[in-house]
Amino acid sequence: MDVPLLDLKAQFQSIRQELMSSIEDVCHEQGFVLGPRVERLEETLGKFCGTAHAVGVASGSDALLLSLMALGVSPGDEVITVPFTFFSTAGVISRLQAKPVFVDICPDTFNLDPEQLADNITDRTKAIIPVHLFGQCADMEGISRVAALHGVPIVEDACQAIGAARSGVRAGCFGTTGCFSFFPSKNLGGFGDGGVITTHDAKLANQLRALRVHGSRSDYHHHLIGMNSRLDALQAAVLQSKFPYLEQWTEKRRSNAQAYAHLFQQAGLLECVSLPVVESSNYHVYNQYTIRTNQRDQLSAYLTKQGIGNKIYYPVPLHLQECYQFLSYEKGQLPVAEQVAQEVLSLPIYPELSPEQLNYVVQTIKDFFELS
Ligand SMILES: *Cc1c(COP(=O)(O)O)cnc(C)c1O
Repeated sequence: MDVPLLDLKAQFQSIRQELMSSIEDVCHEQGFVLGPRVERLEETLGKFCGTAHAVGVASGSDALLLSLMALGVSPGDEVITVPFTFFSTAGVISRLQAKPVFVDICPDTFNLDPEQLADNITDRTKAIIPVHLFGQCADMEGISRVAALHGVPIVEDACQAIGAARSGVRAGCFGTTGCFSFFPSKNLGGFGDGGVITTHDAKLANQLRALRVHGSRSDYHHHLIGMNSRLDALQAAVLQSKFPYLEQWTEKRRSNAQAYAHLFQQAGLLECVSLPVVESSNYHVYNQYTIRTNQRDQLSAYLTKQGIGNKIYYPVPLHLQECYQFLSYEKGQLPVAEQVAQEVLSLPIYPELSPEQLNYVVQTIKDFFELS
């Protein structure tokens, strides 16, 4: 039996007709950049997340970059984020010649530890970027308390967390802006790159709308220096067609996670692996199902050999990346992120998995630990 890490073909086949007809509509319209389809998607997603405004952009990375630009992040400023995330979260800070300041994570949730936040705020701190990693919201009460005390805005990296919620409040609703990605492997994935920024702030939304078109309010009149970061109508059409299924796909991811928990327990594997920990107020959307084990590399190789997709998100914490040597972080400085990076392994969790496939994954992991 083969179990890929993600099976986008299965999802495509399930809604092929609708997708193809919406793509054909765009071809007939011949309007490809921004326009009414993007506006409609922005309205849909703003309503879904619970913010008055949503601004479609070219990627999740650009959603983060444009948010920092709109907040006026400049060379020499500091922006706080986590070392255990996709590179983009920190890369956008450096793109603006600001300095990423890394704060360690909580070992259970892999998310920013609010206890360590205050100590890292200086008078040059211009923003905090918590990441809702793998689809679980960070401790936004704790983070917001510290941020408010120091008057520092929050940019949520919600790229993996569309539909995630904490105490009933959806990701993208907590910060000054929320940043989402439509990269094909995200829970709501396009046919290429795309992203959206959510915000409650009308003025900021207008600024973001200008920044995504070279800082212009009307053609060829530029009041700001922006960039080209627009969402395509084709992507908007694909995303609009997929959107009605998002909640049922999310529920499938969640029931797969529950099935895993049951199967791991039945197989007597809870001594060998740690399963994802969900805080009680969180609605986890499982963009990834990430376990921990101290035999990670061997287990990964074994699963691959048995036809089971798996991946290490993320093997090297950002403060120890080659490109960040100039920041002078040392090994041991952010111990939780460093430890976790050695132990995590993400398993297939996509909605179309069958019970037989889930069972095969767990039985194969059981075989591995019996052999080792
Ligand atoms: C995917 C992702 C991004 C970047 O999104 P792109 O659309 O690929 O640019 C940023 N942060 C996190 C945590 C992500 O998972």
